[in-house]
Amino acid sequence: MEELRKHIRRRSLLKAGGFVAASGALGSIWALVTGTGAGASASGTGLKRPRWIKAVSRPTLGETNADYKRFSGLDMFALYRPLKTHREGAGSVEAEQASKNKRLTAWTNEKKPGFSLPDRQLSEGGFTVMHSAKPGAGLLSWSRISVHTPEELGTQRYTASPEEMANTVKTAARFYGAGLVGVARMNEAYFNLQVPHREPQRKDQPQKDAQQRDQHPILQNHDGGHRSAEHSMAQHSGGEHHDAEHRGSEHSTAQHSSGDHHDSEHPSGGEQGKDQQKAAQPPQDKDIVFEDVDVPEVTDAKFVIPRKMKWVVAIAIPMDIELLSRTPTPLGDAATAMGYSHSAFVVSSLAEFIRGLGYEAIPCVNDTAQSIPFAVDAGLGELSRLNKLVTPEFGPAVRLCKVFTDMPMAYDRPIDFGLVEFCKGCKKCAEACPSRALSFDDEPSFKTRGPWNNPGHKAWFEDSYKCYEYWQKSGSSCGVCIASCPYTKGDQALIHEAVKATASIAPPADGVFRVLDDAFGYGKQHNPEQWWTKDPPSSRRG
Ligand code: SF4
Ligand code: SF4
Repeated sequence: MEELRKHIRRRSLLKAGGFVAASGALGSIWALVTGTGAGASASGTGLKRPRWIKAVSRPTLGETNADYKRFSGLDMFALYRPLKTHREGAGSVEAEQASKNKRLTAWTNEKKPGFSLPDRQLSEGGFTVMHSAKPGAGLLSWSRISVHTPEELGTQRYTASPEEMANTVKTAARFYGAGLVGVARMNEAYFNLQVPHREPQRKDQPQKDAQQRDQHPILQNHDGGHRSAEHSMAQHSGGEHHDAEHRGSEHSTAQHSSGDHHDSEHPSGGEQGKDQQKAAQPPQDKDIVFEDVDVPEVTDAKFVIPRKMKWVVAIAIPMDIELLSRTPTPLGDAATAMGYSHSAFVVSSLAEFIRGLGYEAIPCVNDTAQSIPFAVDAGLGELSRLNKLVTPEFGPAVRLCKVFTDMPMAYDRPIDFGLVEFCKGCKKCAEACPSRALSFDDEPSFKTRGPWNNPGHKAWFEDSYKCYEYWQKSGSSCGVCIASCPYTKGDQALIHEAVKATASIAPPADGVFRVLDDAFGYGKQHNPEQWWTKDPPSSRRG
């Protein structure tokens, strides 16, 4: 594979960088890649994959060093400190939010495209299922909800070969709505140290802002840096910790010191008094621990994961490309909203299915552990310049979730489809980012950019704070970087397959595929108003 890449790297095709030259050469390379001599292709994910997606022994990016350790989700909340601690002359978080809310209201009233009331409420409605899912409770319960056990049905638990067991689970996951499914080895290093203290649900606007922060796509999915199961150390920063219901102590303090929400939140003085008392107490963070127990446990002090849970079902949920192409607007945010709610639905359904087969299961969305390294180990995609998973099929336009289980299954392997080499020359996401939050470095490194990054692994690290500031300014959760990626395509057109196949063996350091992608006009914002009339949603949503 490497020899083939070197050979093609030398070809004048890429040096020419012209559309015609590139198009003419695609055919021959396409034939080469899809020919019989290209080697074995990756077979996991519940999908039949083309031959240009190769299974490899370890991830293509995510090398670790001795600095790597389990990430403290609490570090993540450094982002929530008043903005003035990060930026000279900036106001408080509350002032920034009030300013953003004022802008949003004005844009809604003047019917700015993408900011109308239906645009905004599409996202609010889409979050409904996710908002009812809390780590260890409700849809994400760590114990059986309603499924009948094999004993109750008068039968034995399901057993088959590891390959059959994996196929059964993957097929069920895809039936429930997963786009990609793989099985990774359990790795305790990928787990957060704590489930942070959770604030009660609020009904006023600050709550909406807090939820939006917590759903931050870059924080949720970023910094997954991966390592293979063979490695002894792992990496990852805190992106994944921002479960919608998790709040850090700093955020909690900020909310309770703000006077603008008390009336709507606390109808009586007694309730307000109780809440003030609670604010004065230290937050009740819960440790995540592994113990030799038979069943998962959630106690007042800790979340306990049985050591016998050695299998991780990693799942990617495709996001709606048409909505994503309307970013940065609240209408575009609806793609994220549905991705989360769909994730909660899929993992809760799959956990009940696995329990019904006679095994234990823990369903998680962003909570409890980093999703990206498990997704990389399971062969769903590669870590990218975005510091986010990019899949061959859906690009970075996926939400990730997972189910931990003691059901024995055959493991999948990481994949290589040439992405890391492609990212070195592409940089389209970094150029498209309005806040310059993404790295322009040619090579990934160990150099982190803030407390939201977990040190000790190699990656293209992002400045999540710049990203967050742009969210406030734009009144949206952005996602322009995701929409701009050449791998984010909503169809399986041959030209895209040919380009991706060619990229898998020919790292386009001179940017020829960027030229092609730009020439086709991909990654540009679509007219938000047309979504309601000209691009109606299909029945299959992400
Ligand atoms: S484009 Fe930039 S500002 Fe927007 S979500 Fe991506 S990293 Fe954040
Ligand atoms: S836009 Fe280009 S550089 Fe960024 S993640 Fe996608 S392929 Fe990599």
